[in-house]
Amino acid sequence: MTLVVVFCHATWVKGPRHVVIIGRESKRVDRLKDRVAFVTGASRGIGYATARRLAEEGAKVCMADIDAEGVAKAAGELSEGSLEAFGVGVDVSNREQVERAIAETAERYGHLDILVNNAGVIRDNMLFKMSDEDWQTVMDVHLKGAFLCSRAAQTYMVEQKYGRIINLSSTSALGNRGQANYSAAKAGLQGFTKTLAIELGRYGVTCNAIAPGFIETEMTRATAQRMGVPFEAFVQGAAQQIPVGRTGKPEDIAAAILFFASEEAGFVSGQVLYVAGGPKD
Ligand code: NAD
Repeated sequence: MTLVVVFCHATWVKGPRHVVIIGRESKRVDRLKDRVAFVTGASRGIGYATARRLAEEGAKVCMADIDAEGVAKAAGELSEGSLEAFGVGVDVSNREQVERAIAETAERYGHLDILVNNAGVIRDNMLFKMSDEDWQTVMDVHLKGAFLCSRAAQTYMVEQKYGRIINLSSTSALGNRGQANYSAAKAGLQGFTKTLAIELGRYGVTCNAIAPGFIETEMTRATAQRMGVPFEAFVQGAAQQIPVGRTGKPEDIAAAILFFASEEAGFVSGQVLYVAGGPKD
């Protein structure tokens, strides 16, 4: 077995039977050895951290994103670190593009085991100012995107009688001012998750959702900008409302996704895990 133990400061120490990376703060083993993963919205933020984490655990990862140039660069970074990843430009709300990319991934590696429906956008506005387009764009990326990717991926997962589907919901599913579209989509993804768990369980396919709280990414940066608040002040303000006293990092979410993606989580399905530093006070 390959054992990877990680401490502080980046140095590789190779022994005959195990590899030790001295450089980060957690213990890693090859939990996803030979697994194939498809991660959407992977050019940055939570998607990128997830693709990296899954690849570090031994998975071969297709990183899909509407930003074709960004995702090629992101996949290049992982490949340079000797991780198995490739990038593909995909709009998750486009059926042809989704089906082609998923088929390409399965053909390239012979199977497809893990799907992370992470791609997302926000079009925040109070209800009275929300346009039809703001509503539709959010529904198309989050809900239609997760639907198209899951339908395409399950063909392979059902056939091989193994699969892990992980959807990105949000604490906004419980309601959030200015996010009627986004909260409806994220709540919808929770129902979608439970239904897939019921339909696909008998084929060895689990489906779960992660509902992140405040995570420091371009998405929360854009919210701060829209509100005219410097990002650092926005983060500090948010941290004061969170029981653990800090905001989340993309790696916090990647770690939770890794659990659902692992083989040992096979008896966990239809669940929504809130990863938000604690419940609202
Ligand atoms: P982000 O904006 O940093 O990244 C989103 C990625 O999705 C980008 O790379 C973008 O190019 C890609 N994308 C957008 N539309 C796409 C499309 N049609 N097809 C393919 N790719 C597309 O956002 P993030 O913060 O990393 O969020 C990732 C997921 O987590 C989203 O679903 C988001 O709703 C959810 N989430 C984020 C937070 C947070 O605080 N950041 C909280 C809760 C949930």
